[in-house]
Amino acid sequence: MAEEPKTGASAPETAGASGGAAVTSAPKLKTRKPKQRACDEKDPKGKLCNGHLKRWYDYPQEIAALIGPAAEIYRCEFCKTLYRPDPAQQPHSYTQRY
Ligand SMILES: [Zn+2]
Repeated sequence: MAEEPKTGASAPETAGASGGAAVTSAPKLKTRKPKQRACDEKDPKGKLCNGHLKRWYDYPQEIAALIGPAAEIYRCEFCKTLYRPDPAQQPHSYTQRY
């Protein structure tokens, strides 16, 4: 009795077409200008986004890897551009080393 090695049982097709929608693209990360409250990103047509920058608390892991686990981060409500706080305006949680 010769047993056939079970290799390649009904060749699995690679699911989906490669080069499709790659969702995990690195988000755009900018730094807020002093007193900046609205997004200053421009769309391909040159129109100012002007979206409201909202404090973003529950960001996912991949964002945490980018900015840190408990970082202060803001996100445009329209284009989802991320904004770091203005370094000139120190956050209250800033631990200053002596
Ligand atoms: Zn925007």
